[in-house]
Amino acid sequence: MSDFEATLDMPSLGVLNGSKETVQIRPMTVREEKILLSKSLTPGDKFLKIITSSSDIADPNEAKRLPMSDVMFLFIKLRNLSVGSSGYRNKVSCSMCDQSFQWEIDLNTQDVKQLKSEEEPYTAELPRCGKKVTLKHMRLQDQIDVDKMARTRKSLAVGGINDPNFLSERLAALIVSVDGNDKALFAEKCKFVDSLITQDMQILNDTMADHDFGIDLRTTATCPHCDSTDEYLVRLDPTFFRSPRKLSETDGN
Ligand SMILES: [Zn+2]
Repeated sequence: MSDFEATLDMPSLGVLNGSKETVQIRPMTVREEKILLSKSLTPGDKFLKIITSSSDIADPNEAKRLPMSDVMFLFIKLRNLSVGSSGYRNKVSCSMCDQSFQWEIDLNTQDVKQLKSEEEPYTAELPRCGKKVTLKHMRLQDQIDVDKMARTRKSLAVGGINDPNFLSERLAALIVSVDGNDKALFAEKCKFVDSLITQDMQILNDTMADHDFGIDLRTTATCPHCDSTDEYLVRLDPTFFRSPRKLSETDGN
């Protein structure tokens, strides 16, 4: 039975190890929405379950090899297919005046960057420590692994954002080699990340941004209270598929 309704050209163009050129998707059902709302599953596990039930990638091992940039793209497209691209709303606290407001965008208008170079791993040269680091693109399996580590520290409730270890581990998971040594243990890679001088860290982040691809999850919004404009993120949280109710003019604050 083929009930797929859309075929996606993936931003990775299918040229990375484990990535696919095209993926077919079907609209999400209440079953998948329940997965998204689950409190016992980590974000990576939710991605895995929803991909295997809503796309033609039925094999979990195949899904785990997908680049995370493709996974994010796939999720935006799943939403567009299931509830429409417009009306994605998010309520945020203004970074200037701290008052909350709601912004709304059409997800079809977000830029999609295709993979520029199929070279993987790619290299970053760090001037302060004098080391050459090679990096790979994050896969769903890496996300599942770092989620698991954060879960053991019980820090996943805050999405890892307030967990400094989560950031080191996320980066360590992408390091293939340091100065040609690709045999380092994961703990040693974490230690290496923690030892980096800020300038080297900046270069590492810039290099990753240069090689990044997929859908741009950033958007700008203007606070109606103080008129300041800032950058906000489309979040794949439980409200992603069902945005909060639209605030009327009289709701205020
Ligand atoms: Zn404001």
